[in-house]
Amino acid sequence: MKSLLNIDKNSIQFKFWKYFVSFAALILIILWLIQIVFLNYFYKSMKINQINKIGDTIISEYGKDNFQETMINYAFQKGISIQVVNNDRKLIFPINIAATVIPSKFNAEDYNEFFSGLDEKENRSKTYIIKDPIQEENSILFVGYLGKSISLGNPENNDYFLVITTPLGPVDTTIEILKNQLIIVSLLSLVLALFLSYFISKRLAKPLREMSKTAQEIEKGNYNVEFKDGYYSEINNLAKTLNAATDELTKTIEMRKDLIANVSHDLKTPLTVIKSYGEMIRDISGNNEVQRNKHLETIITEADNLTILVNDLLDLSKAEANLEQVEFSPFDLKDSTEKILNRFKLKADVDGYDFSLKVHGDSYILGDKSKIEQVIYNLISNAVNYTGDDKKVNINITNINNIIKYEVVDTGKGINPSELDQIWNRYYRGKNNHARPVIGTGLGLYIIKSILEMHNFEYGVKSVEGKGSNFYFIVDNN
Ligand code: ADP
Repeated sequence: MKSLLNIDKNSIQFKFWKYFVSFAALILIILWLIQIVFLNYFYKSMKINQINKIGDTIISEYGKDNFQETMINYAFQKGISIQVVNNDRKLIFPINIAATVIPSKFNAEDYNEFFSGLDEKENRSKTYIIKDPIQEENSILFVGYLGKSISLGNPENNDYFLVITTPLGPVDTTIEILKNQLIIVSLLSLVLALFLSYFISKRLAKPLREMSKTAQEIEKGNYNVEFKDGYYSEINNLAKTLNAATDELTKTIEMRKDLIANVSHDLKTPLTVIKSYGEMIRDISGNNEVQRNKHLETIITEADNLTILVNDLLDLSKAEANLEQVEFSPFDLKDSTEKILNRFKLKADVDGYDFSLKVHGDSYILGDKSKIEQVIYNLISNAVNYTGDDKKVNINITNINNIIKYEVVDTGKGINPSELDQIWNRYYRGKNNHARPVIGTGLGLYIIKSILEMHNFEYGVKSVEGKGSNFYFIVDNN
């Protein structure tokens, strides 16, 4: 009972329980209304209708051969009293004793009153509910004008009337029995509803309670959890989504850890080199121009490496901050590529890289120019980093039927098929030993992917190990 009192009134379990019990109570109220309150009314009107119908049928049979037989049949079948009386209320049928019969419950005046106003036309019959003052029992009294006595073979000039009476009694007894039964049924149902719905609601809310417990674990920093399914489809879907989200989160956290480890290592190495070469210049080679220049060259290379690393990180935070805003404008992929290749020109000249750009057809597209240029830059930069010893990087722009394919092809070691899905992930860095050691953060392709998805451009990579990779994106201008 303690747990019942402690229950959170806003919890889904309590609400379920409340609704179940209210539902049960509503059903019981409807049952009570129908059985007790309206039963009396239904029963009465049904009975009156029945008597009216019988009365009307008998009246319509008046004067026909089987008139008396009809009356006898009804009286027996329905257990009702059927009489025919004349103007003086003398009983003509069932037995012609020619006596005035006033039922014991009425005086003559009251009794006569029932017959007043009856005629052959519109006011052919009337129905009354009368209370028997002695037995305190309600009865239905039907009186109807039959016709002239001559029709029954009685030559005296008299009017005949039909009188049907039947007690309404049984319904009160029925209601009494029903009432007693209903009280027991209602109490039992309520108690049952109270307990059953408590357990049902507890069961219904169980998966949600478990999920919230699991989610609390995540809040505490324990990502190694699993949202359980196996209850209802909606919960199963939610569990699946949450499990996928947790997996993603775990992966990102792992990768971020890797990144921090990598980046700190990558930052530390050039910094140590810069520092020690600086010290060397100060202490040893300061006056020796040849040595000093060699040492300075090393410092400059390491500073460049640092710049690449920091730039990547900056690009990412910039890209993430601007991802929502895309400003579309028409521009030429060829122009953009030429502009970017100019930035690599020094590399081409100094390190002997061989860039080739082949354009077939119109290369205008609609997109966010600076973001797409970042994609192109990253793709070319990766190709430069990972291409083979021939240092070839080919860029092809092909327009077929207004569908423009942009490809950056290198001749490097390619990508292991098992890694193809992962390379687009944030912080993911390949395991392959490439031709040259590459400083990187694992963010380049993630930035590319984010930008291309924002544009709804198809993208991908075809890579053959030992032969090279072909990174591409496709713009459908149709
Ligand atoms: P980074 O180059 O900084 O490592 P990226 O996100 O650009 O990060 O690339 C992720 C990984 O994908 C790389 O570590 C590399 O293993 C692989 N990769 C990317 N481009 C190429 C390419 N042109 N050839 C071979 N491998 C590539």
